[in-house]
Amino acid sequence: MTTIPSMIPSPQQTKNSIDMRPIYIPNYIPNPYYVRIFDTTLRDGEQSPGAAMTSQEKLDIARQLAKLGVDVIEAGFPCSSQDEFKAVKMIAEEVGNDVDDNGYVPVIVGIARCNQKDIETAWEAVKHAMRPKISTFIATSPIHMEHKLGKSKEEVLQIACKMVKFARNLGCHDIQFVPEDATRSERDFLYQILGEVIKAGVTTVAIPDTVGITMPWEYGRLIADIKANTPGIENVVLSSHCHNDLGLAVANTLEGVRAGARQLEVTINGIGERAGNASLEEVEKYTGMYLQPHKALVGANAFVHESGIHQVLFLPLILLVTLISSITFPPFRSFLMKLIASSSSLHSSGRAALRKRLEELGFQLKDDEINRVFFNFKALGDKKKRVTDEDLRTLVSNEVTHIEPIWKLGDLQVISGTLGLPSTTIRLINMNGSTHVACSIGQGSVDSALKAVNFIVKELMQEPIKLVEYSVTTIKNGIDGIVTTYVVICRENSNYESTSTLSQENVHPTFSGTAAGTDVVVSSVEAYIAALNKMLGSKE
Ligand code: MN
Repeated sequence: MTTIPSMIPSPQQTKNSIDMRPIYIPNYIPNPYYVRIFDTTLRDGEQSPGAAMTSQEKLDIARQLAKLGVDVIEAGFPCSSQDEFKAVKMIAEEVGNDVDDNGYVPVIVGIARCNQKDIETAWEAVKHAMRPKISTFIATSPIHMEHKLGKSKEEVLQIACKMVKFARNLGCHDIQFVPEDATRSERDFLYQILGEVIKAGVTTVAIPDTVGITMPWEYGRLIADIKANTPGIENVVLSSHCHNDLGLAVANTLEGVRAGARQLEVTINGIGERAGNASLEEVEKYTGMYLQPHKALVGANAFVHESGIHQVLFLPLILLVTLISSITFPPFRSFLMKLIASSSSLHSSGRAALRKRLEELGFQLKDDEINRVFFNFKALGDKKKRVTDEDLRTLVSNEVTHIEPIWKLGDLQVISGTLGLPSTTIRLINMNGSTHVACSIGQGSVDSALKAVNFIVKELMQEPIKLVEYSVTTIKNGIDGIVTTYVVICRENSNYESTSTLSQENVHPTFSGTAAGTDVVVSSVEAYIAALNKMLGSKE
């Protein structure tokens, strides 16, 4: 193991690292105690089943990530689809140029396989950012090279170097190289290929535990060995990329830091393919500091009391506290306090106040969107005594999530109780203005309502739908609380499949929808229709 304890910073060093984010130099971090946060919620996180996002949603998340102060945002995989390209470009143009008062602006990354088309497309998408970056990957483990790529070590080595140079020649001077499946690669080959791509001009090297099989001590050892044996490694920043298949992504990531990694690839709530990635806020948990926006995304808000306890619990981990980008948090904590302090009294405020509050929460809406949110906000205010920030976020996500809705809920009537069968009569409005009415019985009110929707959609569009997941969360307790419903659906006929560009596996696309309201059946139907609209809109 490397000798980390000698690196415990003095109180003054700790203070400095908290006070100042070092200037961004792609291949070097001036402060040895600083760890860059590389968020890949929009790329790896989006590969979670059911987590497909619209480009507008991606832009909103990128804004929140910038507000949070993450150093690097991996915005997506531009070559995977037109829509993805558009999303990454939009994020590069907007979030990638939004410099704050302290001069901070996030690096915007597009991922690319090691081929010209991917790299060109990624560059086209990110180049408008102030700090554009390409992350290019190729498998280096024997099993992947043989069965996925059908290439020899020599060929892989040659392709990697050629493509790094190709990216540099396009004008990209910040390039990350990722030897996919690094934890199962032969060590000597790994040192060799990393040494060569460093010579070819990469600025960071990420070490992915692609299949999530390493133990923390093994991952730490790997990082330490790479540091010790790779020629030129001192000229780049080492990055950790851990998967959570054994529940060890965060532990592995922290061992990576201990052994010398200075960039951590994480996702919000640890979402990602299979069991997910290292989770950003769990890394935060180890620092004893909690971050509000993640909680915003899942609607929970219960961490305030705990942070003190955690600070005490993790005091022995002062090393990690200071290693992990602590400078990110002070502005965040004050943001958090402000948020809690003012979360209760919005009901009486007007449109301008609403706009201001939404901006403070990181939402930039157009005038017509503000108007609609305001309308719903007032309506909700009439139903509830207090409208909180949490409610506001839900209203905004309802507003911006659905682009070009194909179906809208007209009216809904439910009959339920202890007598007879629960039944729902529903009226849906199609985008062409036509209305359609159906009636269904079901196991309960929600079931009968969703079945009634199915009748209409199946009849008219030959689109049988399968409900994959359904959940209800109460945002605020009490009889006037609003509920958020979350629905995941997919097409029932299995001949509609797509191939995951990264894993090359066939996946059955799923679509999620959320809605909020005071009535659980209405909210369920709205969430269902939101998911349905995404599904129908995805048909290309
Ligand atoms: Mn990954």
